[in-house]
Amino acid sequence: KLYNQVQDLKGSIRVYCRVRPFLPGQLSSNTLGSIDEGSITIVTPSKYGKEGRRSFNFNKVFGPSSSQEEVFSDTQPLIRSILDGYNVCIFAYGQTGSGKTYTMSGPKLLNEQTVGVNYRALSDLFKLSEQRRGIFSYEISVQMIEIYNEQVRDLLVGDGLSKKYPFFCSYNILFIFMSFFFPLQESTLEIRNNSQKGLNVPNANLVPVTSTSDVIELMNIGQRNRVVGATALNDRSSRSHSCLTVHVQGKDMTSGTILRGCLHLVDLAGSERVDKSEVTGERLKEAQHINKSLSALGDVISALALKNSHVPYRNSKLTQLLQDSLGGQAKTLMFVHISPEMDSVGETLSTLKFAERVS
Ligand code: ADP
Ligand code: MG
Repeated sequence: KLYNQVQDLKGSIRVYCRVRPFLPGQLSSNTLGSIDEGSITIVTPSKYGKEGRRSFNFNKVFGPSSSQEEVFSDTQPLIRSILDGYNVCIFAYGQTGSGKTYTMSGPKLLNEQTVGVNYRALSDLFKLSEQRRGIFSYEISVQMIEIYNEQVRDLLVGDGLSKKYPFFCSYNILFIFMSFFFPLQESTLEIRNNSQKGLNVPNANLVPVTSTSDVIELMNIGQRNRVVGATALNDRSSRSHSCLTVHVQGKDMTSGTILRGCLHLVDLAGSERVDKSEVTGERLKEAQHINKSLSALGDVISALALKNSHVPYRNSKLTQLLQDSLGGQAKTLMFVHISPEMDSVGETLSTLKFAERVS
């Protein structure tokens, strides 16, 4: 009975485009073009290079006035299918400043209206699992990791966590102790596919959650750890992918059958191209890693969309991590973010072309 509502979404890849509003202080006279329910047209005046008009089609386009709630309501059916044992990936793609973190997490000032997809997803999963109490018994737990320069790092580590979940942190206390003596070494975690219980990063903390306040606490810890990794000059969060994975295990109370589903909520690194002639050293290395992993992701999703027999999962850590949640029975949603300013038109067009390739 529970399986029917999502049959039509099975195996599909959906692409939603979201246009962020002008920020306070920005001149809003310079608009990019026009927005329709399912398409967006970019009109480039000659002073921004080649003059032209180009339209792109999506499953849905959210304009600048769309609320977090509206965006979530079109995402909800996908998220609900996790309780029926499906795997789902939701990505936020776009250049830095286009609104990826806003969609997934929300702005700095969080309240009931502004919270993003991550929080709403978990809150919805709690609510729904409660409704099914007596038919199914669910366990929900989360992991949060970051991929930076093709290295995987656990974001659910540190003080706040060890107080609340001492058992889960013994591994990390050892690590913090070790890193005192080997400060240059970063903890890079291994990705294993087809592991038991669907844990692809078995050594990252897996924290059980039972309420939305647990989730807020964990997201704050994860957010803090992302910032800790950033140097004063470089905002590392825009150059790493972060992934919040929600593992759901449901037990059918009558038959005893176990259903496992997982939801990956991915805030991708900024897609902007950096001018290779201008950057050197660390920054160039970062740019090359981002470029490589985003194109690997594009290759995987477009191979799936084209139903190619070979899907190149092995080309990046990101696609390896998500291998069993991309393709097959799994469902994928890509939020493609663009900025409304004409000054960003070059990046916006390349973002839209990426989206066109995967949809
Ligand atoms: P990114 O994560 O892609 O770098 P952010 O999510 O940090 O971008 O957004 C950049 C700025 O724009 C932030 O100040 C954010 O609060 C604001 N912003 C983004 N999207 C929206 C939106 N839909 N409504 C209001 N403000 C937004
Ligand atoms: Mg961001």
